[in-house]
Amino acid sequence: MIRGTKELLKLTIFHTEIELRRLSLKPFHDHFKIIFTHGNEENGNPSQMLYYFWLRDHCRCGECINSRTFQKSYHILDIPLNVKPIQYHLEEKQLSVIWDDGHSSEFSLEWLKNVHQPIVRQREYFFWNKDTGSDIVDNSISLDEIKKNKTKCQIKLLKSLLKYGFAFIAGIEPTLNATENAITTFFPVNKTHFGDMWQVTNNYLHNDTAYTDSFLAPHTDNTYWTEAAGLIAFHMLSYEGTGGNTLLVDGFNAATNLKNNRPELYDTLTKNVIEWEYVDEGVHYSNIDHIIKHHPLTKDLWQIRVYDYHMRDTERAPRKDNINRSNQNVEGASHKDNKGRNNRV
Ligand SMILES: [Zn+2]
Repeated sequence: MIRGTKELLKLTIFHTEIELRRLSLKPFHDHFKIIFTHGNEENGNPSQMLYYFWLRDHCRCGECINSRTFQKSYHILDIPLNVKPIQYHLEEKQLSVIWDDGHSSEFSLEWLKNVHQPIVRQREYFFWNKDTGSDIVDNSISLDEIKKNKTKCQIKLLKSLLKYGFAFIAGIEPTLNATENAITTFFPVNKTHFGDMWQVTNNYLHNDTAYTDSFLAPHTDNTYWTEAAGLIAFHMLSYEGTGGNTLLVDGFNAATNLKNNRPELYDTLTKNVIEWEYVDEGVHYSNIDHIIKHHPLTKDLWQIRVYDYHMRDTERAPRKDNINRSNQNVEGASHKDNKGRNNRV
């Protein structure tokens, strides 16, 4: 017997000192319907469908959740598909349920209220361009600051990355080791087919425009992977000659401008997928994804993939073996670049 069948069980809850909400719970054949109401109106108020099977699978008790790993102690297939409550009780801060499989569960109403919200937090973005971006460049973190207060610098760096999409660390000795030490203060380094830490110069070591002296148009990296690198660190180790300036673009700003000025083009880039490809000696990556992607839950702008040279339909670069290099002593990619290009790590 379900207590309160066909009746609305109502309870007044104080969520905050100033907010008075009434919560109603109504059982159906396979779910509870929870209605959050303001004042006396019930129609049009937010509600949640809590399916019995889902609710039983989300029991938070010590028997169902391992208190050390916070993971479930059973498999979802262990739960009867048609599990139903034989008794339930709504209290001030929790919902108690006795199930027909003999188990009892208690759910915090606050948890029930928030459980269907997307886990991605709203971020504070600052969209910049060539006029406003220079102010951010001055907002760098020095190695001395990091040595004095690492936690404070970690927070500052992460805030800058989330808000602007990039951050600067100043005062690092121009060596690969010093660069790695600075980076690993904040993040672990992921290994790729290029290496974990590696040096880039115009030596055609890889079939990639980054290893030539051609102009490298604004792009995002690893478009040919399902999981593109979320963050890449560059450090100029040596520089002789002219050119090779780093060009930064606020892709989210560009996408938002496109959405505002040419919504039909923005629409095309969000709805059609592109085949991306990277071919080099011993590796062949390919991926299919949108140029502009929205978060599946929040529908906000989420990710941009732009690298014209890695689109599959472009003519493939010749294999490395066929390239007639002017300088054969390039293996190992020495950072002492005699052609005066911008070496980046
Ligand atoms: Zn349980």
